[in-house]
Amino acid sequence: MSRPVFAYIDTVALQHNLSVIRRHVGTSRIIAVVKADGYGHGLARIAQALLGADSCAVASIDEAIQLRELGWTKPILLLEGVFEIEEIRYCIQYDLSIVIHHYEQINMLRAAKLTQTIPVFIKFNSGMNRLGFKQDAFRTALAQIQSIAMLSPITLMSHFATADDDNGISTQMNIIQQQFARLPYPTSLANSAAALRYPASHGEWIRAGIALYGASPFADTRADTLDLRPVMTLHSRIIAVQTLMTGEALGYGLIWVAERNSRIGIVACGYADGYPRHASTGTPILVNGQRTQVLGRVSMDMLFVDLTQLPDAGVGSQVILWGQGLPVEEVAQAAGTISYELLCARAKRVTEREL
Ligand SMILES: *Cc1c(COP(=O)(O)O)cnc(C)c1O
Repeated sequence: MSRPVFAYIDTVALQHNLSVIRRHVGTSRIIAVVKADGYGHGLARIAQALLGADSCAVASIDEAIQLRELGWTKPILLLEGVFEIEEIRYCIQYDLSIVIHHYEQINMLRAAKLTQTIPVFIKFNSGMNRLGFKQDAFRTALAQIQSIAMLSPITLMSHFATADDDNGISTQMNIIQQQFARLPYPTSLANSAAALRYPASHGEWIRAGIALYGASPFADTRADTLDLRPVMTLHSRIIAVQTLMTGEALGYGLIWVAERNSRIGIVACGYADGYPRHASTGTPILVNGQRTQVLGRVSMDMLFVDLTQLPDAGVGSQVILWGQGLPVEEVAQAAGTISYELLCARAKRVTEREL
């Protein structure tokens, strides 16, 4: 038997989630955000299932080329644009759209003396202060872009810092609306959270990542109440069982001490598989479909689960680390992080399988 850690990928759930987003955004077009190997789901497997989307977005030329080689013919957006001038010819060759967020990128595009068009998304920094031009710089940058005939069509873009929490988008939306007023270009503003919650942000292109993969973008709303279904189920098995007497301790640091006689399952999954080492005692986990908890410290290849209340569980029992029956958000919260990080962290050695 091979090591029993797998990421089951439910492409039907992915298509379902896409249709849920579609319902929310009406006639706006959907850019499926597939950076970081499709949030860890495996680009090759999910690209097929995303044929209903209108575009894909990635963070690097390599991912864009991979998508083209997989047969993706619709637009591809490079979310950080080009990093160096040599990349521009690949943008032409592979028909890529690019974000422009910095003057240096405009200089490169001017120096490239384009003879074919490149669609551009000019990024406005409306308050997140990560990428983009602030108010006056935005006007200047837009004028420069307009003066390069081959940069066409132009789309206006911004990104929200708090669409997923109580602060919402109103402050940034006001700034964006002022800035974009009377500019005759389509817009792209919304991430998953804004797409699901704020119709006013939709514009022509929404950019959906996490919701596609079936996790809730909101801390206060479960994915199932949004009708989203988990796409990745991280699966393993129990490979050993230990019986501890009261007072005996567990794993590295011996940080968990049995307060009564306990049955402990050893699961073949650890931080080298992408399971968070910060998942502390109490983190939820499913064994044979029943909820129990992680105990002690997660090791590189293994972790401990409490089987004291699960007498039927033993070597070979199925373990679900997250996914069907256990939202990844819950595990993320117990580990002090967000679903995005756990999904993206799926290790190469955890092979994907179609569910
Ligand atoms: C990653 C990313 C998104 C997708 O965000 P989700 O919260 O996963 O929907 C959208 N826009 C930009 C610019 C991004 O970098």
